[in-house]
Amino acid sequence: MTSTMVSVVLWVTSGVIALVFMEFWAEFLHRRVWHGPLWPIHRSHHEPRTGRFEFNDILSASHAPVAAGLILYGCLGAPSAFRDLAYGWGLGMTTFGLLYLTFHDGLMHGRLPVQGLRRFAYFRLLCDAHQIHHDRNGGPYGFFYVPPKLRAYLARCRDAAHQDRITLSAS
Ligand SMILES: [Zn+2]
Ligand SMILES: [Zn+2]
Repeated sequence: MTSTMVSVVLWVTSGVIALVFMEFWAEFLHRRVWHGPLWPIHRSHHEPRTGRFEFNDILSASHAPVAAGLILYGCLGAPSAFRDLAYGWGLGMTTFGLLYLTFHDGLMHGRLPVQGLRRFAYFRLLCDAHQIHHDRNGGPYGFFYVPPKLRAYLARCRDAAHQDRITLSAS
């Protein structure tokens, strides 16, 4: 394998691991820190937004400098496997950030014109699961991974709502 191929393998591997890791890291931070010591900041996300931005955006953007630093190191550092891993990790973090911006802020909270994504059942499921977080001000704290128990609960809610509609239209 050429050194370029080794680099590409390291970028892709660490990027994919970072992407998956970020969901669980974000879940941990959201549960333990944002709804803990940083609640005074995160609370703005659980209250009606008054302008274009909310105080909580600081938390959402807090990983961007880390990701940018890793990518810069990946571009400018002395050649090594560690540099390649850092570069891939930075790209994985950035990808997660863009997905979070699109699906959480854009689709779920209507801050970007991406409502067309609602045609996909899994994306609607993500929004329904996150709506429970906002309704209860409690779990679930993750965003992209919907645990089987929660998925089953949402399916029961959908069935009950469907049944209600049938009963209403028949009466
Ligand atoms: Zn929250
Ligand atoms: Zn939210």
